[in-house]
Parts: sequence; structure tokens; C-alpha cells
Amino acid sequence: MQTYARLPVSFVRGEGAYLYDEQGEAYLDALGGIAVCALGHAHPAVTRAICEQAQTLLHTSNLYGIQNQQALADKLCDISGVDRVFFCNSGAEANEAAIKIARRYGHHRNIDIPHIVVMENSFHGRTLATLTATANRKAQQGFEPLVEGFIRVPYNDIEAVAALARSRDDIVAVLVEPVQGEGGINIPSPGYLQGLKQLCEKHQWLLMLDEIQSGVGRTGRWFAFQHENIQPDVLTSAKALGNGVPISACLARGHAADILQPGTHGTTFGGNPLACAAALAVLESIERDNLLARIAELGAYMLSGFQTALSHYTAGANPAITAIRGKGLMIGIQLQRDCADLVKLALAQKLLINVTAGNVVRLLPPYILNDSEAERIVETVSSLIKQFLATP
Ligand code: PLP
Repeated sequence: MQTYARLPVSFVRGEGAYLYDEQGEAYLDALGGIAVCALGHAHPAVTRAICEQAQTLLHTSNLYGIQNQQALADKLCDISGVDRVFFCNSGAEANEAAIKIARRYGHHRNIDIPHIVVMENSFHGRTLATLTATANRKAQQGFEPLVEGFIRVPYNDIEAVAALARSRDDIVAVLVEPVQGEGGINIPSPGYLQGLKQLCEKHQWLLMLDEIQSGVGRTGRWFAFQHENIQPDVLTSAKALGNGVPISACLARGHAADILQPGTHGTTFGGNPLACAAALAVLESIERDNLLARIAELGAYMLSGFQTALSHYTAGANPAITAIRGKGLMIGIQLQRDCADLVKLALAQKLLINVTAGNVVRLLPPYILNDSEAERIVETVSSLIKQFLATP
């Protein structure tokens, strides 16, 4: 169906940070399948794990024990501080599981119509419940009736959440991205997540972090919340977790981890041996190659590169570039005006980028970039933005 207005290119092969089209032309990939191919394309360890698993066992169903699902769950618990994991196949599905946990948690507390606090500019997926949680009126239009039980407040506004706590007694959880991705690489002020955590603890709400885009190393820690010294009750992960093999996870700790019991939730494909083998190889590779430190280093290098190259456009009372933001390899450059055309201009330079929220150039490059690839991204994107701003 016509769900995407596609760009006029098809890729037939990938290797490291590059994709190759049908003519064999190489494109430097600064988007990584929208934060998915974090180890680059055709990563040897992931490829090996997939091949070996495919020769051994693809699928058995969740009616039986799955060894590498258990190993992956143990590893995820270890790196994130949670107690249990439910595996599924997409980001939206992981958030659906989180929403179901929150509702059931509410019913345990005798709240008949449980409400979840969500944020402006958020993105949580395209299923009916996650679309309702998503703050994009255009994406919701035509799909009404939406799902009951969500209350929206501005992002990065702790007082707005505190005010809800004073006025309502039907709230059970807060669902928030520690860094908003689709919303424009919005990074909240230091202390915001801690403030949410305190409110959640005080009012017995679950703090549910959507780390589908920001997790699995993207910001230089395993999960973005780890910059803030807090622990969520529920955490969702997808995208980079399988480096291209569909897998997602809803992780939970404490009481939240015990809410889903046999018969309350399920999935046919979720956590199958193939997907878990790929995800295990992803986590092992990030660890073995010490990539978390490298992500932080690359991110800082690229961010300061952009700040220097574009400083002329960020200064003054009415700057053409209103912000350059980044956390690890999640980088956003916000222009004053809409700039979707930059995607095609970059494509012509054999560079893959994205524009989100209308006016934010979004870069989500793979963690395996070398210095000269990072430099090429900074130089090409900066000069394209300058050219773009020079035309009315
Ligand atoms: N949550 C966040 C923060 C995302 O960035 C996305 C996808 O962009 C999703 C949820 C939905 O994930 P999926 O498209 O795999 O359903």
C-alpha cells in the first residue's frame, strides 16, 4: 500500500556504513535504517549468528523454553537493571505491552479507568493505542475513535505533570521518551527524568521509558536513562536491538515485572530463536568492541563539528538555525524553516539523512563509523545546510 512516499533509489547490498544501489554506487548511511542498523550493514558477528541459528532452529513458539531468549533476557536485565522481559517484534508492540502493564497495574489498584500521562511531540508507534499515545494529530486523523486513557502534557515540563498529580486520582503511569526522536531530537533539561521518577514514586505511578530509538547504546550508554541515575519501572527497546532483524522488548522491574501472567498477553513470533541470536550478537559486539565509549566520542566530535561549521547561522536575534542538539549518535539540527528538501539534496551527494518534525535534520549514524566517515557527514551536511539557507 502507499504508506510511504519513497525516495527514487533502491539498495541491493550493504557493508559497514555504506549502502549500494543497483548500479553499485555507494551511499554513506547517516540514518541506519532509522536507528536500526547501529552496527552498520552486514555486520560479520550478526551475520554469523543469524546463519548459525538458521541452520539450527528458527522457531518453536513460546509454549516451550527458548535457550537464547533466556540468555538475551538475562543480558538485558543485567545491562538495564530490570527483572523480566517480554519479547515482541516491533517498537509499537513493545509499547502496547507497556500500556497493558500500566492498565492492569491500575486495575490492581482499583482504578477503573486508568490513565497514562504522555507528552507533546512524542512518538510511540502506529497501532491504535500507541497512535493515541503519539502526539501527531495528522497521523491520528481518520483513525478515530482513538483509545481512551491518555492525558497529554508538554515535554520537559515537570510542573505540568505535578499539576496533574494534584488534580487527578486516575493516573497510573507516565510514558516518555528520554530523548524524543521523531519529535525532533528533543533532549530534556537535566533533572527532568529524575523529577518524573520522584513524582511517580510519590504517587505510585509507573515510570515507563520508551527507549526504542534512544536505547541499545545510541546515546553512549546502554539506555539514555542511565545518564540520569534513575531506574524506570518499565522500559521499551527495539530498533537497534536486532540490527535489522525484527525484535523488540518490554522490560520491567519490581511489581511491574509480575503483572503479566500466563494468559494475559502473548505473541507467536516474539523472542524466537533467530531474532534472539541476532540481538545477543548485537549486545556482545557493542560490549566486545567497547562501542559505548566510541559512541560518546563520535557524538561529541560530530556535535562540536556542526557547532563550529554552522556557528555563523546560529548567532544573532533571528538565527536561521535555531538549535544544534545531540546525545551520543542522536543528532538534530533545527532550522527556522521547513527543510525536507535537504534529504534529496543529500541523496544527490550519496549521503543518507532524514528530516523529522518538518525542520530538524536528524542523524542516526551507525556506531562503527570511522573518523573520516564522521567527518564526511559533518562536512557534507553542513555545506548542504549552508546552500539550502542561501536559497529563498
Ligand atoms: N517509539 C519510538 C520512540 C520510536 O522512535 C518508534 C519508531 O520510530 C516507535 C516507538 C515505533 O516503533 P516501530 O515502528 O518499530 O513500531
